[in-house]
Amino acid sequence: GHKAYQFMLRTKNPSGIVPNRLYLVMDELADKYGIGTLRLTTRQTFQLHGVLKTDLKTVMSSIIKNLGSTLGACGDVNRNVLAPAAPYKSKEYVHAQELASKLAMLLAPQAGAYYDIWVDGEKITQDEPEDVTIARNDNSYGTNFDNSPEPIYGVQFLPRKFKIAVTVPGDNSVDVLTNDIGIVVISDEHGDVQGYNIYVGGGMGRTHRNEQTFPRLADELGYVSKDDILYVVKAIVATQRDYGRRDDRRMSRMKYVVEEWGIHKFKTVVEQYFGKHIQPFKELPPFQFQSYLGWHEQGDGNVFFGLHVENGRIKGEAKKALREVIEKFKLDVHITPNQNLILCNVRPSWKARITRALANVGLLAPKFVDPLNITAMACPALPLCPLAIAEAERGAPDILKRVRAMMDKVGLKASESLVVRITGCPNGCARPYMAELGLVGDGPNSYQIWLGGASNQTRLAETFMDRVKLDKLESVLEPVFYMWKSERHEKEGFGDFVYRQGFGACKTYIENYTGP
Ligand code: SF4
Repeated sequence: GHKAYQFMLRTKNPSGIVPNRLYLVMDELADKYGIGTLRLTTRQTFQLHGVLKTDLKTVMSSIIKNLGSTLGACGDVNRNVLAPAAPYKSKEYVHAQELASKLAMLLAPQAGAYYDIWVDGEKITQDEPEDVTIARNDNSYGTNFDNSPEPIYGVQFLPRKFKIAVTVPGDNSVDVLTNDIGIVVISDEHGDVQGYNIYVGGGMGRTHRNEQTFPRLADELGYVSKDDILYVVKAIVATQRDYGRRDDRRMSRMKYVVEEWGIHKFKTVVEQYFGKHIQPFKELPPFQFQSYLGWHEQGDGNVFFGLHVENGRIKGEAKKALREVIEKFKLDVHITPNQNLILCNVRPSWKARITRALANVGLLAPKFVDPLNITAMACPALPLCPLAIAEAERGAPDILKRVRAMMDKVGLKASESLVVRITGCPNGCARPYMAELGLVGDGPNSYQIWLGGASNQTRLAETFMDRVKLDKLESVLEPVFYMWKSERHEKEGFGDFVYRQGFGACKTYIENYTGP
């Protein structure tokens, strides 16, 4: 009966960093006011489902008072800024996380109404680094910025949500190319930051049967030196603010501006706001997907534990045990962009006790989990998301079991794996268009199948088939798995194989398939 009055609440945690106290508060709020589970998201935040309207104010003020925020988690502003969640103490990683936090502050809406409403006007201020305040209010730099109260967004804000990710060379834990802005920290041989490579124009969302909408990989914009980063981001945001389409929400992400203009024109316009030239992009090593699961050295004597959380949902006995461990050892946690959790700052002498406590409730070390499940992602979809037209999170465990069974049947080893991502609609919250196997809901119990993405998320998948009924998955996938097993180059990944063969060859193979 209360359904219509329930809310979904999303926090904002740059780099997925969640201080100990905030985790404990979120855990409690989920029980008291939510549906008793905590959901980790692909943008390194918490989602609390099922909050009643009458409880909203209590919940929001608890989060804000405990150092979290929901400001800018929704709406046509900058969303949570991603950065690698690993708590490595190297200069590069620490810097990437600090920059993510600065960008979140730079682009946070400035009007006071939000805090006034939710905390009864009690001033809860975050200490803002001086360079952020200066950059936000500097009007001499570039052109066309409004004065107060929103020096960057102006009176009309952005045409649509805006996404930024920061990372370090080689680490693609953040799916950097799927963001409006992707930033890679460039350091010298001592690890001291010199500047940043910048990508622009990535984005996942599309609409079924509307060819004008499409997922897009970000392009290389160029390089700026260290002191310029906040200003160039401001210039890019202003470009989207002034040129992003406002007549059609489906066409209003920045990727369509970059696509329409091409990267050269886009760069020229950004340079006009920026007031300087953007330098050529620096060469980067290849990206790799990083999950950070299991135990790792932080680099300061402590260790961290990356914990696989099935579908990002923390519930039941596992939720209780996690809370106990996090409370007892006063651990901070980080949420990864793959909906997993990292327990940070663990003393090596606590390792055994923590491993045991978590294993007791089924939170196992990654070596005991099917590698398919480790890299898979599914969005919340039914019954929690109003846009969902098919199952994702609820259907994922069974779909993954079926994928593994097909792989077994055609003779692929248990250690072989591929990146599977499932969403309940084409909006693409779990970034299915970057997967080696993407399933995108296109009707009740029916999916569009996307194939050909790369295992390190650097190549877009493409639509292989439309409207495949859930119970017909085997008829499409088993032949392609067998073809992969029989005709692959040594160690060739599934996505690379399908991409090399081409969809025509795969479809012919399906037609002629008679079994392994
Ligand atoms: Fe909802 Fe669609 Fe996003 Fe899934 S992909 S959470 S169904 S909007």
